[in-house]
Amino acid sequence: MVLYAPGRTTSYPDEKVESGFRFHFLGGGEEVGNVGLVLEDATGTRMLLDYGLAPSKPPRYPAEAPRVMDAVITHAHIDHLGMAPWLNASHRTELHATPFTVAASRVMWRDCYKVSSIEGYPLAWDKRDLEESLRAWREHGFHQVQQTGEWDWSLLPAGHIPGAAMLDLSTPEHDVLITGDFDTRPSRLVPGAAPKKADILFMEGTYGGRNHPDRIEEEQRLLRRVESVVEGGGTVLIPSFAMGRGQDVLMILQDSDLDLDIHYDGMGKILTRLMLDHPEGLKDPEGLERAFGAARKVSSKSDRKKALEADVIVSTSGMLEGGPSIWYLNRLRHDSRNSVFLTGYQAEGTGGRRLLDQGRLPIFGSMTPIELPIDRFDLSTHAGHDELITFAEETQAEHVILYHTDHDSARPPLAADLRERGFEVHCPMNRETYTIQ
Ligand SMILES: [Zn+2]
Repeated sequence: MVLYAPGRTTSYPDEKVESGFRFHFLGGGEEVGNVGLVLEDATGTRMLLDYGLAPSKPPRYPAEAPRVMDAVITHAHIDHLGMAPWLNASHRTELHATPFTVAASRVMWRDCYKVSSIEGYPLAWDKRDLEESLRAWREHGFHQVQQTGEWDWSLLPAGHIPGAAMLDLSTPEHDVLITGDFDTRPSRLVPGAAPKKADILFMEGTYGGRNHPDRIEEEQRLLRRVESVVEGGGTVLIPSFAMGRGQDVLMILQDSDLDLDIHYDGMGKILTRLMLDHPEGLKDPEGLERAFGAARKVSSKSDRKKALEADVIVSTSGMLEGGPSIWYLNRLRHDSRNSVFLTGYQAEGTGGRRLLDQGRLPIFGSMTPIELPIDRFDLSTHAGHDELITFAEETQAEHVILYHTDHDSARPPLAADLRERGFEVHCPMNRETYTIQ
């Protein structure tokens, strides 16, 4: 099903840029995920940053992209690359990203296609667009300077997940830095992002107004809770995102004083193998290899049954939206010695969110109460409020554009804090056009 009538539904203006640097969010301005950012200046150079869809129910899609020949995809989360096949199908857009993002795109797009078919949600691209888009990729290592029109640009490490990049862009008039999803704190998988001088900074603000607990302490808290469940004869289910979080959890469990029987299930297995094929951006490739090697990979029904006897099961989906997690939960829920540990953001309307708010969630179509102890751990790889402020200060930017952030809760405290420190702060709305002179 095609959502867009090409040329009719874009919110992007027809007028040329007279002067200054123009930007326009097709999505991901005053919301988390669903990113599409059009950049253009008076030289006529135009680029798109990210084109994703938010995997909510129903999914949220960005506005139609105008004709654009080059798109930088910051990383391989679906809310940043899920709509990219439409770009290639409609405009023959070249897609630019790091080698790992390129390698992971096939897995992520196929999964997105599969989920849309199962859930019955429309998708603006089909299987052929997907296969053809794989040929639209141009790979760029970090720090390699590229040229598009009158602009020079390069990708810089963003922390967050393997392959994640910030865009460092020089136009004839401005130095622009766009963070993508980023974190200056290292995780188990990747080193933290380092700031770079710019006069215009586009910064994601997922965690505006909120700070993370100390990561090492949070990891210790997780390990001690695992220990107590296992000593009590139970199994811990850790629903984890396939891309990034699952691998972080495996590494935390492996690199500990506990001797655990860990079973690993879901799409994360194939993504971990891709990460190990692209060790260049990883903080500790050997550590990941050890953790992955030590975990039992679940690949059949009988493996899955055996996993019910494990100490820990790490599995997708991270938000308890289908996937093997739900199968495990349905089995484990009958024994109160078992526990569920949530390690990521639980979006509104997802199984994980309902479990937290109501103690019940849909399992194979029927609302099911869960009596097991539920714990939450903050292993986020988005910069927290204080990291965001420090990062902005270190870039010495004059203008800060806050995006990928909740308009009502996260953005106001972040904007206020930055304004107090003398920044010119912009809070763009989707489908509106802004120019910085
Ligand atoms: Zn992300």
